[in-house]
Amino acid sequence: MKFNTKTIHGGQHHEEVTGAVMPPVFLTSTFVQSSPGKPIGDYEYSRAANPTRTALEESLASIENGAKGLAFSSGLAATDCLLRMFKAGDEIIAMDDLYGGTYRLFTRLYKDSGIKFHFVDMNDMEKFQSLINENTKLVWVETPTNPLMKLADIAEIAKITKKHNILFAVDNTFATPYLQKPLDLGADIVMHSATKYLGGHSDVIAGALVIKDKALGDELHFKQFATGATLGPMDAFLVLRGIKTLHLRVQRHCENGGKVAEYLDNHPLVERVYYPGLASHPFHEIAKKQMSGFGGMVTFTFKSGKKEDAIKFLENLKVFTLAESLGGVESLANHPALMTHASIPEDKRKEVGITDDLVRLSVGIEDIEDLLADIEQALK
Ligand SMILES: *Cc1c(COP(=O)(O)O)cnc(C)c1O
Repeated sequence: MKFNTKTIHGGQHHEEVTGAVMPPVFLTSTFVQSSPGKPIGDYEYSRAANPTRTALEESLASIENGAKGLAFSSGLAATDCLLRMFKAGDEIIAMDDLYGGTYRLFTRLYKDSGIKFHFVDMNDMEKFQSLINENTKLVWVETPTNPLMKLADIAEIAKITKKHNILFAVDNTFATPYLQKPLDLGADIVMHSATKYLGGHSDVIAGALVIKDKALGDELHFKQFATGATLGPMDAFLVLRGIKTLHLRVQRHCENGGKVAEYLDNHPLVERVYYPGLASHPFHEIAKKQMSGFGGMVTFTFKSGKKEDAIKFLENLKVFTLAESLGGVESLANHPALMTHASIPEDKRKEVGITDDLVRLSVGIEDIEDLLADIEQALK
C-alpha cells in the first residue's frame, strides 16, 4: 500500500463479531479466561494490550514502516520508556535544540541516573563523532526542531550510528511520516508526540514509539507494560481517527505554512523567518533531500528585537489562538521563551537562539486569506 492508503487501512481490519468498520472503543480493563491462564481471546489485561490500542499501534507501525508500534499516554512517556533501555555509565548524544520537555526529562529527571547526556549541533559531524565512545548507546535527534526549525541529516547520522552499533532515535513529531520517514532513512526508532499532527485536532495527549526491529520492539513493549504509561482506549481511538486524515491535513498545513512563511519573510517588521521551505533557510537543502514538503510550523523574530512587540502581536491575534501545543487543525501561536520552552534555562535559550522576540506559529488548515489578514492586523 502507498502512504495515503496506509493512513486509512494500514494494519486495520473490521471488527469480527459485529463487522464494525472502525474498531470499537474497548472500555475494559480485563478479559475473561476459560481456565486459569487461558484467556478466551488474545487479551488478558489492558495495561499489556487493549484491542483499540492494538489497532492504533498497528496503524503507527504501518505509516512509519516499522515492525512494531507502541502507544503511550504522552509523547514524554514514550521517550521515558525508551530511556529505560539504558543504565548508569551509558552515554546518550542528543541534538542541542530540543522540545523543552524532552530537555527537562534528559537533564532533570535523569540527572542522577548515571546516564551521561551530551548535547551537540548535529550538523557539526566532526564534533558529533568526537563524542562517540564505547559507552555511547543512543543518538537522539529531533528534526525539524521545536521552535528553531533546525534540521539534522538523518541518512548521514544513520551511517555513523550503524558503524558504531549505536541506536538512533528520531522525534518525528514536526514532520510526520507524511513528509519524512526516519526508519527508511536508517533510524532505528521513531518517537511521536501524537498529541500534535497524528491526533491533529487538539483533543488528546498521546505518544508513540515505532521500532524498525521486531525484537527491540518486543523489548520496549515489555518495558511499556512493566512501567504502565499506556494509552487508554478512548484516546487511542481519537489518535487512530486523526491518522486517517493525516495526509490531507498535512498537505494543507504545508500549503498554508509556506504562504505564511513567505508573507512574513517579505514583511518590513519581521527580522527573520525560520521555515525549512524558504531558500534562505540554512537547512533548506537537507529539507529538500529528506522531506517531501515543509510542514506548517513557522517561527519568526521582530526587526525591533523587542519582547513587548512579540507579546503585543500575540495578544492581538484573533484567528490564531494563543496557546501551547501545535499540529491541530486550528492555527495556534506561541511565545516559546515564556510558554513551551520556559523550562530551558535563560542562558541556554539564548545560546541556541530562542530569543524573547521569537514567535512560533502552528499554521492550521483554515482559509489562508483569513490567516494572512489576521497576521497583518496583529502586526499593525
Ligand atoms: C509536544 C512535543 C513533545 C512532547 O509530547 P507530549 O505529548 O506533550 O508529552 C515531544 N517532542 C516534540 C517535538 C513535541 O512538540
